[in-house]
Amino acid sequence: MVSEKTKPSKKSLEVYLIKKENLLTLVSKLADEFEIIAPVRTNGSVRFEKITDINQIELGYIGHTKLPLKKFFEPPKEVLFTYTIKNDSVEIKDNLEQIAKEKRVILGAHACDIHSLEIMDKVFLGEYHDPYYAARRNNTIIIGEICNDTAEYCFCYYTKSGPNAQSGFDLLLTDVNDAYFVEVGSEKGKDLISRFSDLFEKAEVKYIDLKDEKVQKLIKKMREKGLPEMDKVYQDMVNAFSKEIWEELSKICLACGKCNYTCPTCYCFDINDEIDPERTSGSRVRTWSSCHFLVFTRVTSGEVFRKDRSSRVKQRIYHKLVYSVNEIGEISCVGCGRCIDVCPAEIDLREIVKKIKGGA
Ligand code: SF4
Ligand code: SF4
Repeated sequence: MVSEKTKPSKKSLEVYLIKKENLLTLVSKLADEFEIIAPVRTNGSVRFEKITDINQIELGYIGHTKLPLKKFFEPPKEVLFTYTIKNDSVEIKDNLEQIAKEKRVILGAHACDIHSLEIMDKVFLGEYHDPYYAARRNNTIIIGEICNDTAEYCFCYYTKSGPNAQSGFDLLLTDVNDAYFVEVGSEKGKDLISRFSDLFEKAEVKYIDLKDEKVQKLIKKMREKGLPEMDKVYQDMVNAFSKEIWEELSKICLACGKCNYTCPTCYCFDINDEIDPERTSGSRVRTWSSCHFLVFTRVTSGEVFRKDRSSRVKQRIYHKLVYSVNEIGEISCVGCGRCIDVCPAEIDLREIVKKIKGGA
């Protein structure tokens, strides 16, 4: 059965068509006022990068980019503010105003990555409001793209994150040969269409069907993988907390953290002060962290709460499939497959869940 999240929608969408050469014209015009971030092929892999030449853009890439979009919203290392101590007072400066001015367009985000931002929103704009993340989200336009094919590691169908995107984008493109079928997902998207209306034309109904067919083909291909639906394994995971599998995985896991760094929804960070030798000024710096690192749970007294590697291997998987459901109401795996692709120990979240479902 096709789930609601993956079912292509014919309902009330505003739909247009843009010729491929017109899309390049649109991007060139947008580059006058926005920073353009798009997929670029470098050293054999596709990465989201700031574009200086529109001919660098590689739409239609298959699978995932090297790093996900989170680096543009929660950078790997960021100075949150600097401070200067003067007599009895402290002067604090941040660059929130500057961040708010930097208008950006992200082009070519796939459904899994679009949904990952919706998950990150629940974390950074939910109970705790992060002004740096909020400023970057506010001034970024997302132009997504439906995948042309699935890659070896993709399993977004099983996490209800794709292959179709039904929200989280401003515009959504589907390659229909010499043009892109365009769906409008927000007021920002509507505004782009009306400002550059000479580049778009109204799409005929047949293009909705073409998109539906494309998505259905992707679903059919992914269903051949025969994986469990990841949003339905909560209780199996809860029951598996004391199973042997975590000990077994800890013998091969290198605790390198690559899985966390490349995951679009792993958001954990560390905060440090970098202080000048005079101890009169410094910077408060936020850097990505990883629940696989021994220091991740080390507190000031020196105590480490997850000393055993098995507890750290377990933490990542439980956060994705159990704790995230408790905290934000949904799993936080979007099935991009990056963690599987990069793991030097070939640890595969899909295989772990399959084993647990099978009673491991
Ligand atoms: S990438 Fe693999 S080896 Fe490295 S921490 Fe993650 S699971 Fe362990
Ligand atoms: S856990 Fe792995 S497959 Fe799931 S979103 Fe993170 S990197 Fe992608």
